[in-house]
Amino acid sequence: MKTIYAVFGDPVGHSLSPVMHNAAFEALGMDCEYHTFRVTKDDLKAAIHGAKAMGFGGLNLTIPLKEIALRLVEPDPIAKAIGAVNTIEFSKGSIIGHNTDGIGAVHALRSSGVVIRDSNVLVLGAGGAARAVVYQLVQDGARVTIANRTIERAEKLADNVSSLGTARGTGLEDLPGLVEQSHIIINTTSVGMHPDTGQTLITSDMMHSGQVIFDLVYNPLQTRLLEEAKKAGAITIDGVKMLVHQGARSFRIWTGVEPPPNVMERSVKDVLEKQ
Ligand code: NAP
Repeated sequence: MKTIYAVFGDPVGHSLSPVMHNAAFEALGMDCEYHTFRVTKDDLKAAIHGAKAMGFGGLNLTIPLKEIALRLVEPDPIAKAIGAVNTIEFSKGSIIGHNTDGIGAVHALRSSGVVIRDSNVLVLGAGGAARAVVYQLVQDGARVTIANRTIERAEKLADNVSSLGTARGTGLEDLPGLVEQSHIIINTTSVGMHPDTGQTLITSDMMHSGQVIFDLVYNPLQTRLLEEAKKAGAITIDGVKMLVHQGARSFRIWTGVEPPPNVMERSVKDVLEKQ
């Protein structure tokens, strides 16, 4: 009998996870299928327990369920530190919550040959994605500056990880100087995302060649930020890389099997290139 996997969210129709995981299941010849289910915050507990009762192989959670799930499952230390769950594992009697977003982001960097330890990393934004990315960067020995439109959120995030390593929070006023001093710049804001595709927080005149510019936004695939980075001769990494690596981590948690990242990446890019 097929094993069913799913992403719960509200809305969830836009999710690229089914395409990516079904491509991996097919490539590996596994008798599994991945689906989307619209689940509200109020119904999340019942939906998780229902999925477990029906023998689902595992779950992903997306907006707006990641934070509230923390109270409904047994979060592992990473999910607890980040304050959000994006992957649920049904393990014997337990329902374990993981967060693979931060690990996905650093794997996206490493798979592009980027060294994280002792690098100066500028993270633009201090929302949910930033929390996961900053936690993992600091764990992996980067010196992190978080620059956010709402400075208090940047300061709070830096404060939350200060026991793990080096991080400070600031506003967006000093971006030219901060960009100049950084080896790696990661956009975790929604700036540049469809439909406002002309927007970017930093431009090519602030960047220099050899810098790494990583945009978490993947819709569009080639954001204005990545275009500016190419103009400056910087190394670019798109948001699909993170999507694939966080998905690959979930896949391994559920199945114990290493999925093919290239197959997953191609399947997502095929969909995005048609949009
Ligand atoms: P979120 O929690 O709502 O945070 C949004 C962040 O963007 C905040 O820091 C916010 O600043 C900032 N922001 C929004 N509009 C801005 C503007 N006009 N100017 C300056 N800053 C602005 O969202 P999220 O869940 O972190 O997601 C952020 C982006 O990452 C989305 O595009 C999402 O699709 C993408 N993402 C990608 C992946 C992946 O796998 N590639 C994974 C997760 C998320 P304030 O604090 O001042 O409001």
